[in-house]
Amino acid sequence: MRRITGATRLAGVIGQPVAHSLSPLIHNAWLEAAGIDAVYVALPATPDRFGALIEAGRDGVFLGLNITLPFKEIALRLADRVDAAAEAAGAANLLLFTPDNAAVARNTDGLGLLSALAAQAPGLSLPRARVCVLGAGGAARGAVAALLAAHAGEVRIVNRSAERAQALAALFGARARAIGWGAWGEALADVDLIVNATSLGLDGAPELDLPLELAPGDAVVMDMVYRPLRTGLLQGAAARGLATVDGLAMLIGQAGPSFQAMLGCAPPGPEVIDVRALCLEALEAAA
Ligand code: NAP
Repeated sequence: MRRITGATRLAGVIGQPVAHSLSPLIHNAWLEAAGIDAVYVALPATPDRFGALIEAGRDGVFLGLNITLPFKEIALRLADRVDAAAEAAGAANLLLFTPDNAAVARNTDGLGLLSALAAQAPGLSLPRARVCVLGAGGAARGAVAALLAAHAGEVRIVNRSAERAQALAALFGARARAIGWGAWGEALADVDLIVNATSLGLDGAPELDLPLELAPGDAVVMDMVYRPLRTGLLQGAAARGLATVDGLAMLIGQAGPSFQAMLGCAPPGPEVIDVRALCLEALEAAA
């Protein structure tokens, strides 16, 4: 049995809602397997109490805090320092606390996206790739930043609200451009990678119904949504023989560098503890 003592250190994830988060399962499995005396908890917050949790972090209560919806933008604003990835994404998914009581904003979601692609679509080469990103919210902005940093040649941003797609493209210069929702011929022609960064396909939300026949036969289709794991989009892509990448790989991919940043060591590998299998079990139990 794992012992909690007075010396046990504390980390966590702040969100609202947050009880459904898989991050405590992932991080505690890694902590236990690595024999580290720390626990990782889910912390529900309200917008007016969020700042108090960050203050507690500055006072040394937490090793670090992951940040999830709807606090990623406010976390960036409240931080004392911001790293380049968080600045580019316009959001933080991780706050670290320094001995001089500063909160440092980081963003590991982009690394999560790139590691998911590397793990599940190893044949995809991002340099010069043509990518279609669906969505223009926080997740899409982080994805565009990470894909351009990985030298994608062109990122087409397609969003239901055209002005949000245009505003997002304008942040990133000539390699990003907005395409109207529904202009699928233009959006999907010659693409190497399609990324769903909308909430379409989530349990309870409508499906993202893309005419995948307009995409090349060797395109890769990634869905950030992981509830359900095999979204309608991924099922449709697989039925057409396209390579698919799921949102759980991205979630675990962002957790690894978060763990490393908070604990100062890499998490144990899948040969020690298979956190994906644990998450799949949890997703199945919740379905
Ligand atoms: P967000 O800021 O709320 O953005 C939601 C996006 O979905 C917007 O682009 C919105 O378009 C679009 N959308 C919502 N309903 C739509 C509809 N009926 N038709 C067309 N478009 C619709 O959310 P977010 O933070 O960017 O997250 C987006 C998704 O990514 C969520 O499902 C989230 O769970 C997932 N995500 C996954 C990971 C991971 O690790 N796997 C990490 C981050 C996020 P409008 O602008 O027109 O409203």
